[in-house]
Amino acid sequence: MNHLKHLDWPFFEDKHRALASELDGWCARNLAHGAVDHEEVDASCKALVKALGAGGWLTHAVAGEGQAIDTRAICLLRETLARHDGLADFAFAMQGLGSGAISLMGTPAQREAYLPRVSRGEALAAFALSEPEAGSDVAAMHCAARLDDRGGGQGGDHYVLDGEKTWISNGGIADFYVVFARTGEAPGSRGISAFIVDAGTPGFEIAERIDVIAPHPLARLRFTGCRVPKTAMIGAPGEGFKVAMRTLDVFRTSVAAASLGFARRALGEGLNQARERAMFGATLADLPLTQAKLADMACTVDSSALLVYRAAWERDQGRTITREAAMAKLMATEGAQRVIDAAVQLHGGRGVRRGEIVESLYREIRALRIYEGASEVQQLIIGRDLLKNG
Ligand SMILES: Cc1cc2nc3c(=O)[nH]c(=O)nc-3n(C[C@H](O)[C@H](O)[C@H](O)COP(=O)(O)OP(=O)(O)OC[C@H]3O[C@@H](n4cnc5c(N)ncnc54)[C@H](O)[C@@H]3O)c2cc1C
Repeated sequence: MNHLKHLDWPFFEDKHRALASELDGWCARNLAHGAVDHEEVDASCKALVKALGAGGWLTHAVAGEGQAIDTRAICLLRETLARHDGLADFAFAMQGLGSGAISLMGTPAQREAYLPRVSRGEALAAFALSEPEAGSDVAAMHCAARLDDRGGGQGGDHYVLDGEKTWISNGGIADFYVVFARTGEAPGSRGISAFIVDAGTPGFEIAERIDVIAPHPLARLRFTGCRVPKTAMIGAPGEGFKVAMRTLDVFRTSVAAASLGFARRALGEGLNQARERAMFGATLADLPLTQAKLADMACTVDSSALLVYRAAWERDQGRTITREAAMAKLMATEGAQRVIDAAVQLHGGRGVRRGEIVESLYREIRALRIYEGASEVQQLIIGRDLLKNG
């Protein structure tokens, strides 16, 4: 199956076409083929970040000085990596999501201190927004940062963080975390600020490591009187929600792109299985119900791809894509779940056997319908935007 055929779509420039083809070759040479059970998930993840850095791929996850983030490049890279290996996609995505706020709104000193190391694969990044009582409802956040006035009433030169974050990807292995905390300039989402917290800062600890159905490094974080310098703030006081949403606008579209990669892989595996499985004196592929299933899978893959690259292209034209990104994430993640489920069905018993590609895809896709805004949150975003802007 030709997984690169969509590269001739008008959304892309030649540099994007070259990038996706080159990465496809690199993945074939450097990543494990078939189902990957990354048992030593922390070590595998660190090794993948190093390899992606050495290959030059992580330069696309950050924006250099004066450069914009190339959304189409990020989406093509995530789609390709996900098609080959879910953990490689995760490793790439977290370097981008974890450092995205610094790329988008960091000071020159913050950019200099973190982005080169992120793009070389020397520093692992994390994005810490969610809390035990504040997931979909981000504004319900409790984690707080107050100005430390030990400086003698001059307003202090440090903030002190207290509270918890949970479900934090790369938690436990990241070298730094972009942490969102309530600073109280205004009620709700207008009273949140963003901070860079280095691993090892006194008062910051990993409270719990969390296991999930598709293993990834994940943790609950705890801050107890954790002092960070004022210079660790990204953006202005009270701008944290804006920092988070601007970051998510880029990476939400890329979650859709990763789903697309998983779905393409499942369609390919389903096609192979249908052609090869002998049944009723013919093959599974000869049965009309199989052809209908494959048709539905292909339509879902192509419609997801159109939404993903429409959103990415629009963002690269400088347009606001809140609705388009939400549409892409909703349709591509939900669609990939259906495509993968159909591929499992085509494999019969083999489909649920541990170690089969479709079995690992089945576990891999599930969380994408939940994180960076659950499907219901995307529906709300789309519905409200339609009512407001038509
Ligand atoms: C594998 C994984 C990795 C993650 N990585 C990160 C990370 O790196 N950084 C980070 O900050 N967070 C991360 N998260 C957290 C993720 O963003 C949250 O899980 C997500 O926002 C949902 O929050 P919640 O789990 O608290 O569920 P809740 O907010 O309790 O939502 C539960 C369910 O309610 C439904 N729902 C939500 N809103 C509505 C609505 N308006 N109307 C109707 N139904 C609704 C949805 O079905 C949702 O799944 C990760 C989560 C997972 C599973």
